[in-house]
Amino acid sequence: MRKLFLTTGAAALLMACGTSKTATTTKAPEVKPKQDVSFFANTITSDELKEALYTYASDDFEGRDTGEPGQKKAVEYLKNHYVTLGIPSPISEGDYFQKVPLEKQAAPDMTLKIGDKEFKAIEDYVSVTDGENGEVNSQEIAYVGYGIDSENYSSYKDIDVAGKFVLIKGGEPKNEDGTFIISGSDKASKWSTNQQYRAKREIALSKGAKGILFYSPQIYPMVAQQFGSGGQMGLKEDTPQEKMYYIFVNSSIAKAVVEEIDSETTSKLIKTPMNLTFKSNVKEVDSENVAAFIKGSEKPDEIIVISAHLDHEGVKGGAIYNGADDDGSGTVAILEIAEAFKAAVDNGQTPKRSILFLHVTGEEKGLLGSQYYTDKDPIFPLENTVANLNIDMIGRTDPQRTEGDRNYVYLIGSDKLSTELHNLSEEVNKKCCNVELDYKFNDDNDPNRFYYRSDHYNFAKNNIPVIFYFNGTHADYHQPSDTPDKIEYDLLENRTRLIFNTAWELANRDARIIVDKAEVKAE
Ligand SMILES: [Zn+2]
Repeated sequence: MRKLFLTTGAAALLMACGTSKTATTTKAPEVKPKQDVSFFANTITSDELKEALYTYASDDFEGRDTGEPGQKKAVEYLKNHYVTLGIPSPISEGDYFQKVPLEKQAAPDMTLKIGDKEFKAIEDYVSVTDGENGEVNSQEIAYVGYGIDSENYSSYKDIDVAGKFVLIKGGEPKNEDGTFIISGSDKASKWSTNQQYRAKREIALSKGAKGILFYSPQIYPMVAQQFGSGGQMGLKEDTPQEKMYYIFVNSSIAKAVVEEIDSETTSKLIKTPMNLTFKSNVKEVDSENVAAFIKGSEKPDEIIVISAHLDHEGVKGGAIYNGADDDGSGTVAILEIAEAFKAAVDNGQTPKRSILFLHVTGEEKGLLGSQYYTDKDPIFPLENTVANLNIDMIGRTDPQRTEGDRNYVYLIGSDKLSTELHNLSEEVNKKCCNVELDYKFNDDNDPNRFYYRSDHYNFAKNNIPVIFYFNGTHADYHQPSDTPDKIEYDLLENRTRLIFNTAWELANRDARIIVDKAEVKAE
C-alpha cells in the first residue's frame, strides 16, 4: 500500500534507503557534496591511461586484427573493464557485444585459357566478385565495345549475349568535336565515371551474360593490387549479389580477343575457345563492436556517442602491429572517460543525456563496425543521436607540425554540421583545458581527406554532428613500431580530459545542440 501521507522528499529518502520497513530504522543517507566537472575530469590520469594502454597495446593482443584471436582478447578486456566499473550494456544484461558479421574475399583460385594461351592471374587478370565455383567452357566471346545501353547509344543493339562472356572496355564514346555522345556536351556520364563498373555490370547481367571481361588499362594496376592479394573485407550482405564472373583483364587478354580494341567500338561475336576454372575464397568473419551505456537522468532518449576503433592491423610478416596510438590511445581514453562519468553517477550527478561508449571493430578494413552501427543496427535511433565524439590517435605528436604548442590536438568536422557544437567545443576548451585546437585538417580541400577516414564519418553522413580528435600521423603510423613507450601520456591525459569536458557539456546543457548545416541527401 502506498503511504500517501509522506511528502515527496521523505518518500525519496525512504527509497534511497532500500528495503527497510519503517522510517524509524533507517539511517540518514550519506549526502555527498555536489562536485564541479573538473573534480571528475581529474579522475582521468596519465598513470591510469598508461597502465591500460600497456595492456591493450601489448603483444598479447597480437595487433587486434579484425576477427582474429588477438581481437577477441581485446573485446574481452573492454567488456571486463565495464563490468568492473559497473557500467551496464545497452544491448542486454551482461552482453556488451554487438555482433558485426563480416566476410573476407581473398582472390579466388582461378585458371583462364583463351585460344590456346593460358594466362596468368594478377599479371593478366583479376576477379573482383564472387563467381560460381566450377568450370566454364565456351567457343565464343561477345565483344560489346563500351558495354553501354542508354537511350541514344547502345552496345547491345544487334548482338545476343545470353549465356556468353562479354568483353567490355572502359569509358564512353565521343563525337568528333570531343563532346560526349551520351550527354551531347563535355559532361561525362555514369558510363565513364566511377559508376561505370556497376552500371555496365547491371546491363550485362540484364542481357543474360554469364560473365564480364573488363578492359581498362589505366586502372588495371590498381585493381590488380587491390583484389589480387590479401583479400577485401566487407559487411556480410543480407541479400547476396547475383553471382556473375567479373574479371578485370590486362591488354594481353583484351588484345588476344580483339586486337584493335582501343579503337574498335562495334559489337561482334568472336569465335575463340575459352576455358575458365573458378574456386572462390570467401570466408565469414565473426567480429563485434563493444558498447557500454550510462542512461541520462533527464533526457535519456538523447544520446551522445563517444567512439574509438578497437581493431588494428594484426600480425604481418611475423611482426606484431601493436597500434598503441592507432587506436589504443582512443580506446583507453574512452575507458577513462567512462570511469569519470561513472564517478559522477555515483556522486548523484548522472548526466542529463545518455552516453554511449562505443568501441567499433573493422575500422582499418574500411570503417566497418561504425558502418554496421549506423547503416544496419543502430542501438539507439540515429535521429536521437545528438553528437559523435570520435577519437582516433591522440597519444603522439605530428613531426610535420613545427610551430605551436606541443599541447595541441587536431579537430576535424566540428563546424561542418553544427555551429553550436563548434562554439561549445571552443568554449569548453578555454574553460577547462587550454589545449591548442588546430583546424589544419578540417579544410574541405585537404588532400589527406581525414574527415572521411575514421568512424565519425558514418555518423556525419547521417547529419549527426561530429568532432574527430586526432594527433596527425608520424613515422610509426601503421608500423610495428607504434608501441606504448612512444606515447606522450601527459598529452593523452589533457586531450582525454578535453573530450570528457566536451561530452559533459553536450550531455548536461539545457537544450540539445542544433544542426544548422545539415546536408540534403542526394538519393
Ligand atoms: Zn589506422
